[in-house]
Amino acid sequence: MTDINSDVRSILIKNVQLNGKETSIYIEGNTITEIGGPKLEADTVISGTGQAAIPALINTHTHAAMTLFRGYADDLELFDWLSKKIWPLEHKLTPDDVYWGTRLACLEMIKTGTTCFNDMYWHMTSAARAVEDSGIRGVISGVVFDNFDPEKGEKEFKRCVNDIKELRDNTGPRVIASFGPHAVYTVSNELLEKLTKHAQEHDMLIHIHLAETEKENLDYIEREGGRPVEKLAELGFFGANVICAHGVWLNEKDIRTLAEFDVKISHNPTSNMKLAIGSAIPYEQLTAAGLTVSLGTDGCASNNNLDMFESMKVATLLQKFHTNQQTVMPAHEVFEMATINGARSLRLDAGEVAEGKLADLLLVDLKHPSMVPNHDLISNLVYSANGSIVRTTICNGKILMLDRKVEGEEEVIEKCQEHAARLVND
Ligand SMILES: [Zn+2]
Repeated sequence: MTDINSDVRSILIKNVQLNGKETSIYIEGNTITEIGGPKLEADTVISGTGQAAIPALINTHTHAAMTLFRGYADDLELFDWLSKKIWPLEHKLTPDDVYWGTRLACLEMIKTGTTCFNDMYWHMTSAARAVEDSGIRGVISGVVFDNFDPEKGEKEFKRCVNDIKELRDNTGPRVIASFGPHAVYTVSNELLEKLTKHAQEHDMLIHIHLAETEKENLDYIEREGGRPVEKLAELGFFGANVICAHGVWLNEKDIRTLAEFDVKISHNPTSNMKLAIGSAIPYEQLTAAGLTVSLGTDGCASNNNLDMFESMKVATLLQKFHTNQQTVMPAHEVFEMATINGARSLRLDAGEVAEGKLADLLLVDLKHPSMVPNHDLISNLVYSANGSIVRTTICNGKILMLDRKVEGEEEVIEKCQEHAARLVND
């Protein structure tokens, strides 16, 4: 197994299927430098026989450390679930809990073919350290709330800016700091304006929950006298750097406004269905308006896994079911949502296996029963497979999983069991 922190190295993947043809892929440093070239040697040579190379998946909305709450509270009414189960546990979370919870999330992602995620959670510097140590990529934001209290808003803003500075000082290029204002029902317009200004000055991404439930829109209209999208546009909040998780309860005017600012939408179908938010994302209207729609899992309390293969299937089934159309969100589109659209949303030169792109890719098992026969690889990936078909995961030119083995996985499992038990029992 290779050291994920070592710098210069090369990988040659031989006899691998790529876009329906057998070829070789050469990786130098963190980049795919040659496909089908003459090279026969490298620091590491991998046989791709019986496997296909595909871009690694990108999860554009999660709360990684919530892996610790997996299966702790399901099937409850939303407010009971949050107030009686999730919030009391979150209140007890230590930085160390978040570190190990995020390590578990990274491990699960590596094992199911995701190499980059967009995170929003507490103790962002611990989450960042976990990303750094696991070898994957993370866009990490610390969740920000002020609950409409200006004093709290001021404190939260300072804490956030300090955390971002600490994160930048202590992590490498795989970790990207962003802002995570929670939602319009927990963050005041004043704090949103302040965050927006800082994000623009520092060219940062912003990650927010938006239009997840109808109630959030109705409450906002009552409080502010207008729809959230309209008011946020007036505040100058929107831009191509803003990723909105959910975007379910949007009307035509909202969609036009979001498209005007090139806002990015992260669709979280499994969470939307589990939390019974009452509708499906208006996918056709969003794409017709030219918006980039990517895919997320949301946190493990509302999913309960981070398997993006499963989310691809659920996304397309939900659209078909909701619109009563068999043709909506075809397999190749949902695969693009989970790869290239995710890369575009997070401003990464990835999401494709092509020369010059970041070496974030997977080798998937074409002999796995769920992948046979192989009439159409993308169809199999979306409708038949799950994360267990991934044999090898490469991120930033480093092999994080080879033949389903990840270095240090036993320790992560053990530590997470301890941390989860302490949270529940203390
Ligand atoms: Zn969320």
